[in-house]
Amino acid sequence: MTERIRSFLRERREDAPCLVIDREVVAENYRAFANALPDTRVFYAVKANPAPEILRLLADLGSCFDAASITEIEAALAAGAQPNRISFGNTIKKERDVARAFELGVRLFAVDCETEVGKIARAAPGSRVFCRLLVDNAGADWPLSRKFGCDGAMAADVLEHAKRQGLEPHGVSFHVGSQQRDPKMWDAALAISAGVFRACAERGINLAMVNLGGGFPAKYVKKVPSVRLYGDSIFRSLKKHFGNALPETVIEPGRGLVGDAGIIEAEVVLVSSKSKGDALRWVYLDIGKFGGLAETADEAIRYVIRTERDGDRKVACALAGPTCDSLDVLYEKEPYFLPISLEVGDKVLIEGTGAYTTTYSSVGFNGFAPLKQYVI
Ligand SMILES: *Cc1c(COP(=O)(O)O)cnc(C)c1O
Repeated sequence: MTERIRSFLRERREDAPCLVIDREVVAENYRAFANALPDTRVFYAVKANPAPEILRLLADLGSCFDAASITEIEAALAAGAQPNRISFGNTIKKERDVARAFELGVRLFAVDCETEVGKIARAAPGSRVFCRLLVDNAGADWPLSRKFGCDGAMAADVLEHAKRQGLEPHGVSFHVGSQQRDPKMWDAALAISAGVFRACAERGINLAMVNLGGGFPAKYVKKVPSVRLYGDSIFRSLKKHFGNALPETVIEPGRGLVGDAGIIEAEVVLVSSKSKGDALRWVYLDIGKFGGLAETADEAIRYVIRTERDGDRKVACALAGPTCDSLDVLYEKEPYFLPISLEVGDKVLIEGTGAYTTTYSSVGFNGFAPLKQYVI
């Protein structure tokens, strides 16, 4: 936790959990990406945290933006990004939203099939498109499944179709899975990408860009490599698969840019057990899955939780949220060790919660307000 967040929380007098983001950490993270991957443009994945203050800060630092909807495009524009710094990176778009994005000046779109190409050709004529590839997400704590992308052979067809429809086939993209803890996972994806570049070249289409996606980790309970290591590993793979004809590259970090810039302060509402002498304690907080901690689904993301009693002996606890839904349990299969002295009313700090929290909190399930956020 930074000193700025510590002093902000000392002054806070509200009766609900809140997320505090230190904008200086976001700026440091942005610079770390720029240094680790020089010659690579950063497209911040807006969905990770669309707070206007964060978008403005990143726009001022020179970042581009990966948007998934018209609302996200408008947010990036409002933050001062020119439309040529915004990509409509969702592969699943309504044609009227493509048209609206085109009206707003956006000229870069993701596709992963010919039907989507048809929408872009009609609603955003002449635009650049890149084809999303389906790649292995092993090693990611929050994989993105098979929902997006197509295989390399199909990608070449999709890009050729785009060309025939009057679009500009610009390149390929992939995502190796969010919270990807293995920097080597970009290698296989880059091998597929280089294959698509070759297949397209044989058809007279010269692709220019590889979008390396997101996946860069934030710091949770498990240790993660530094951004520099990711940069080195990716650069080696680029050389290996593309030789001297290196493509233009972009990255789309979300979690890696804002995750560790934020801390949630929450409160212990209840400590209990299920039977007398039961070793497992149940600790209930005033925040849970519906209050913003949705990524604890399947206990995938394991946050670092600090209390003021961390010096005391720790015991196994199931940790849950405050709502009347049994889904609202954060950690139970693998219990979380918390101080035996933890009491009702204690504050807890949940670290690394700057990404994928505020927008995941429900509008008011059980009457609990959405997660409040302060960008300081
Ligand atoms: C969510 C998303 C990202 C950001 O992923 P992180 O793992 O948070 O870095 C990047 N690109 C696309 C297309 C996404 O959907």
